[in-house]
Amino acid sequence: MIIFQLSLQGILTLRACRNFCFLYLLQKSIMTDFMKISDFRALPKSDLHNHCLLGGKRSVIEKHLGRKLSTFKAEQTGIGDLNRWIEREFRPFFQLPDAFEKAVEAAFIQAKFDGITRLEMSIDVLFGTIFNVSAGRIVDVLKKYHHSVAPEIDFCPELGFPRNRSLRTLLAGFEPFPDFQYFQSIDLYDDEFAQPIANFKELYRYAKKLGMKCKAHAGEFGSAESVKEAVEMLELDAVQHGIGAAGSPAVMRWLADHKIPLNVCPTSNIKLKRVRSYKTHPIRILFDHGVKVTINTDDALVFGDGVSEQYLQLLRHGVFTMDELEVIRRNGQPLS
Ligand SMILES: [Zn+2]
Repeated sequence: MIIFQLSLQGILTLRACRNFCFLYLLQKSIMTDFMKISDFRALPKSDLHNHCLLGGKRSVIEKHLGRKLSTFKAEQTGIGDLNRWIEREFRPFFQLPDAFEKAVEAAFIQAKFDGITRLEMSIDVLFGTIFNVSAGRIVDVLKKYHHSVAPEIDFCPELGFPRNRSLRTLLAGFEPFPDFQYFQSIDLYDDEFAQPIANFKELYRYAKKLGMKCKAHAGEFGSAESVKEAVEMLELDAVQHGIGAAGSPAVMRWLADHKIPLNVCPTSNIKLKRVRSYKTHPIRILFDHGVKVTINTDDALVFGDGVSEQYLQLLRHGVFTMDELEVIRRNGQPLS
C-alpha cells in the first residue's frame, strides 16, 4: 500500500514483532498523528471537480494582480456570498492583460503542486463570449499550459454550463467547441435552484451524442431526490457534490447499484456553510452505504485547500482511516 510505503519506514518493522495486534493499532495511531501534508501531496491523486479559473494557485494570481486577495468567508449558506466574492475580489483580475492565460497557468501549477495526476477541469462555456476570447484561443491556452506546466497530468478538458442561463444561450455558447474535438466532458453548475433540471435535457442529449462524459452539480444544497432526478433526467455519468443523497438510504443504494460516483468537495461544503465540519461531513455516510466517492477541490483559489489538505483533514478528524482514504484515492484513478 502506497501510503504505508510513504510513511515512517520504521513502522513496517513493527509488523515483525510478537504482539502484532497491539502494535498494529499503535502503527495506525502513529500514522494518523504523523502523516504530513507532504506525504499526501506525494500520492498520485485525481481532481475531478475543478472550476479552472477559480482553481489557480493563489500566490500566482496575487502576484499578477499586485495585491493579496481577501480571505473568503460566507455569512449565509449557499453560493450567493461566493458569487459576491468573485465579483468584488476576482473580477478586477480579468481586466488585466493576459489574465486568462495567467489563470489557466495558475490552475495547472496548483494541480501539479497538489500531486494531481488526473484532472477533469472545466472552463465556462460563456467565458469566451463575456471576455472576448475565441474558442480556438481557449483550446490553445489550455494545451499550452498543460504541456508546459504539467504534461505528466492526465488532463481531461471539460466545458461548464451555468444553470442560471437559458438553454438557448448555453447551446449558442457550446456551438464553436465541438469542432476542436478537445473537450471530453460537460458540467452544469452555479445556482442549483435556478431552473428545473429537465430544461437541460437537450443539451445533455447533444453532448452524449458527441461522446462526452456527462456530469452536473446536484445535491450540493438540494435533496437526495434532486440527485436521483438529475442522474435520470440527464443520464449522468457522475455527480458533482451530490452530498444531499446522504439523506436517503434508498437513493444511496440506487447510486451504489448504478455505480454513479459523487465527486465530493468537503472544504467547499464547509466554507459555503452546507456542512458544519469535517467530522460531520456526510461523505462518511455515503462511503458507508457503498457510494463511490472521490475528494476534489471545487475552487482551490477561493477555499484554499487542495485535495491533499482535505485528505489530511479527513484523517485528522477521524472521518476516514488511511485504508479508507486509499480506497477513495483509487476511486479517482482510471480503470478503478
Ligand atoms: Zn463545483
